[in-house]
Amino acid sequence: VDLPIHDAVLARAAEFGDTPALIDGTDGTTLSYEQVDRFHRRVAAALAEAGVRKGDVLALHSPNTIAFPTAFYAATRAGATVTTVHPLATAQEFAKQLTDSAARWIITVSPLLDIARRAAELAGGVREIFVCDSATGHRSLIDMLATTAPEPRIAVDPTEDVAALPYSSGTTGTPKGVMLTHRQIATNLSQLHPAIPAGPGDRVLAVLPFFHIYGLTALMNAPLRQGATVVVLPRFDLEQFPAAIQNHRITALYVAPPIVLALAKHPAVAQYDLSSLKYIVSAAAPLDARLAAACSERLGLPPVGQAYGMTELSPGTHVVPLDAMRDAPPGTVGKLIAGTEMRIVSLDDPDKDLPAGESGEILIRGPQVMKGYLGRPDATTAMIDTDGWLHTGDVGHVDEDGWLFVVDRVKELIKYKGFQVAPAELEALLLTHPGIADAAVIGRYNDDGNEVPHAYVVRQPAATGLSEAEIMMYVAERVAPYKRIRQVTFIDGVPRAASGKILRRQLRESA
Ligand code: ATP
Ligand code: MG
Repeated sequence: VDLPIHDAVLARAAEFGDTPALIDGTDGTTLSYEQVDRFHRRVAAALAEAGVRKGDVLALHSPNTIAFPTAFYAATRAGATVTTVHPLATAQEFAKQLTDSAARWIITVSPLLDIARRAAELAGGVREIFVCDSATGHRSLIDMLATTAPEPRIAVDPTEDVAALPYSSGTTGTPKGVMLTHRQIATNLSQLHPAIPAGPGDRVLAVLPFFHIYGLTALMNAPLRQGATVVVLPRFDLEQFPAAIQNHRITALYVAPPIVLALAKHPAVAQYDLSSLKYIVSAAAPLDARLAAACSERLGLPPVGQAYGMTELSPGTHVVPLDAMRDAPPGTVGKLIAGTEMRIVSLDDPDKDLPAGESGEILIRGPQVMKGYLGRPDATTAMIDTDGWLHTGDVGHVDEDGWLFVVDRVKELIKYKGFQVAPAELEALLLTHPGIADAAVIGRYNDDGNEVPHAYVVRQPAATGLSEAEIMMYVAERVAPYKRIRQVTFIDGVPRAASGKILRRQLRESA
């Protein structure tokens, strides 16, 4: 764990040699471990030659491609801190991130070049834009492979130097730049590894974005560190996704709840042979046990195992170990990983620790807790107390055996006449209705000043006749009276972040 991240991840690349490291799921182009190792060293040399210096921030602006890891590790090997950028960001949003992170360099892909150029113009301070593929007027990674410059020898301090500066998803507010050191990321990889070992012969499908910390860890760093093969898809598509599982004999999926939902419910999925799959892991948002079970039953797999974490935790703290997926209690996000401490404290009194079975705020302490938010010391101290406990803002409880259950975010709980209602619970219930394709729930103040659950529902194509009254009745028959849905709005799609989280904020703003 005391290696820079590129050395920690690629430590065994030479040994894995010709094993495919990355396969483009759309055209089959393959990079071996030997190539990723050699290519990232050459590109690092070229970046250093271009002027990249230790501590410079480099913005990596790309959808998932097989070149992404080469770009990432080349940049860190050249001493840079990589800030990953949402490939669908507008020029304004990208410019904001460039300014916030004081980025000096950009690596993009040619289809996004115009946006990158405009963002760089708006932000100022960017010295050069590189592209992964070839494009006129900018140096490409392919050109850079030809450099004769020496490989940079940067002295990295793994405990201090920031390897990655991912931004949080922006679910609850403006995304924050999260400073993660080489050691924090490398430590978390080795903490998570024993729970879900993978290696040569395993094939994971990278459909969640690499730019988000979950994809970066579960789909890039962890599999490459262990010699597995990563099949890369640029986006989630209901036909392409199961087709890729079938054609590439995918063995493991790391997904978010919307993909579990598709696997459980969507008719297209049934047309493919998904029998190569050995297990599925879901993280990033609450996953209901019934949905998880429907998915694994349909596919004939062990129950979907969850993991829990956040950008600020490099990112993991809990996971259902592979060998426990069959027996773990339904709905759990897993057990605390080694070297990490957790407390569950009262929402009314953060000094009061709660016993098993009682829900409160989850606090975490451990070597994976972020260095801090970039340029926001106040936000950092609001998040991490003086004893080093990070206040996750999530509500959960453990059972007698230490399995953690996440209820929802503290901020999202709907307070109805002294009761607390978790939107995630109602969303999960709504999804059990055969006529409902997707759903989101927020709290809304009604005319008597009470905050009540308001559901946004996407109907199945065959259920356009499903009415508001029927939906409210369906829920009312299954929950305590204070949890009833008081209002329903039909929508075409639930707004979600790239990481799969429901953007309840957008629903609130839309009303
Ligand atoms: P922001 O902090 O910018 O508002 P965000 O919290 O969504 O956005 P991330 O760091 O991507 O940004 O997400 C971390 C959050 O995701 C956790 O705090 C938690 O609410 C949620 N989460 C992660 N894994 C799970 C899980 N297995 N079950 C429930 N929620 C989860
Ligand atoms: Mg957050």
